[in-house]
Amino acid sequence: MIKINNVTKKYGDFTAVDKLSLTVNKAEFLVILGPSGCGKSTLLRLINKMIDRNGGEIQVNGEDIDTVKGEELRKKIGYVIQSTGLFPHMDVKKNIATVPNLLNWEEKKISKRVDEMLTLVGLQPEKYKDKKPSELSGGEAQRIGVARAIASDPDILLMDEPFGAVDPINRLRLQKEFRKIQRELKKTVVFVTHDIDEALLLADRICVMNKGEIVQLDTPENIVLHP
Ligand code: ADP
Ligand code: ADP
Repeated sequence: MIKINNVTKKYGDFTAVDKLSLTVNKAEFLVILGPSGCGKSTLLRLINKMIDRNGGEIQVNGEDIDTVKGEELRKKIGYVIQSTGLFPHMDVKKNIATVPNLLNWEEKKISKRVDEMLTLVGLQPEKYKDKKPSELSGGEAQRIGVARAIASDPDILLMDEPFGAVDPINRLRLQKEFRKIQRELKKTVVFVTHDIDEALLLADRICVMNKGEIVQLDTPENIVLHP
């Protein structure tokens, strides 16, 4: 589903991702775990072509990403970041409809989809769809961020500490709900965190990174047994 081969990313002289190779399987929940600054976010942004790399190849769904326009790729890949990235001037329904609008879906279909997505993340459509991001709690905003990322039904979701800003109780609820959604919809997820408990709870496999390299790649069970 995602094939990263010998990929390097430098910022000036600094190597953020260093000859990294990694394959993410279809419907897999892969967690990238590592300390702040080890290159986790950079790796996600390389996959959806938000930034260019200095070497190596990346394939998504068997296609070399160099042969696809960045904007086309990002229509197929859902992306969620910690700050949720909601557009502050747009209400909740417009935010969720971002990619469906880019894809020129019919208005009726979009409206139905917005309601479905809100229900899926546990928010009542009637109560939430006309709200502005500034009227949402941190946890609600992150739910909307997830709803937006999956609205166009992408096969792949890249998530960068998506629940980082949520209080512990709501975070646990969101983690469990999202894991259930991921299994039901068979999404391929690459999920970045520096929280080992979150990684152990969610992952099919954990990819431990340090200084731009993979230092361990295994199931949560094996990582706990052989740390
Ligand atoms: P992580 O997500 O693991 O915290 P990042 O991928 O955000 O790490 O960053 C990896 C390293 O690259 C950090 O040392 C960071 O300071 C540096 N870095 C990230 N983005 C830039 C940039 N645009 N310009 C220069 N350095 C950057
Ligand atoms: P950044 O401020 O990190 O440079 P970008 O300019 O790349 O962000 O993206 C602008 C906004 O669009 C961001 O808030 C980001 O979260 C959002 N975004 C980028 N790619 C996608 C995507 N594939 N799906 C949904 N939202 C996206």
